[in-house]
Amino acid sequence: MAAGLLTDFRKLVTATKFQTVFMIIPINTYSDPVLSMKAKPLKGIDASIEELIGSMFESMRNAEGIGLAAPQIGHSLRLLVIDLSCMDSHKDAKPMVVINPRILAVKGRNAYDEGCLSVPGVTGEVVRPSAIQLHYRDEHFEEHTDEFSGMMARVLQHEIDHLDGTLFVDRMDKRDRRKIQNELDAIADGRTTPAYPIARNAVAVEARG
Ligand SMILES: [Zn+2]
Repeated sequence: MAAGLLTDFRKLVTATKFQTVFMIIPINTYSDPVLSMKAKPLKGIDASIEELIGSMFESMRNAEGIGLAAPQIGHSLRLLVIDLSCMDSHKDAKPMVVINPRILAVKGRNAYDEGCLSVPGVTGEVVRPSAIQLHYRDEHFEEHTDEFSGMMARVLQHEIDHLDGTLFVDRMDKRDRRKIQNELDAIADGRTTPAYPIARNAVAVEARG
């Protein structure tokens, strides 16, 4: 998900074990096939996964995001990162790595205006459960079952959707979705230039010759 303010990256690296400088990887955008795929579970953590996690935090921070799923930088794996600490309301939030998540139970429902680094410049109201019980593994591949509500429940569900090939615009009311179709077409045609690097998908590049 996107957020308006810049994350303090120094705070992030001291809060995680990822202290190296990682690469900023261009973000895949709406209509890229990788965003419609069902991502594969991770079998464990190795050096390449640790590097990927570091690059995900770096790419998310660079794009001023609060959540990023691995498919958004071209890796179809069930892995996502979240850092809400750039939001005024969540300054003390710790960065979080979530691997192979499975929602066990949901409670309540609420509406919230979502945005997505893969759908630059577009926001729209999505109704989702307001609290979830989640089974997942952390960056050490250790298992957890925790309950989340508020912003964490919202961002987790948005990012988990990415692992199943679903974007927030797919969950919008059909009438609302029609109103943003021109903006979506502009992204698909490569006519959008956000303030962070995006991966031009093969179809769009071909179409431009
Ligand atoms: Zn997203």
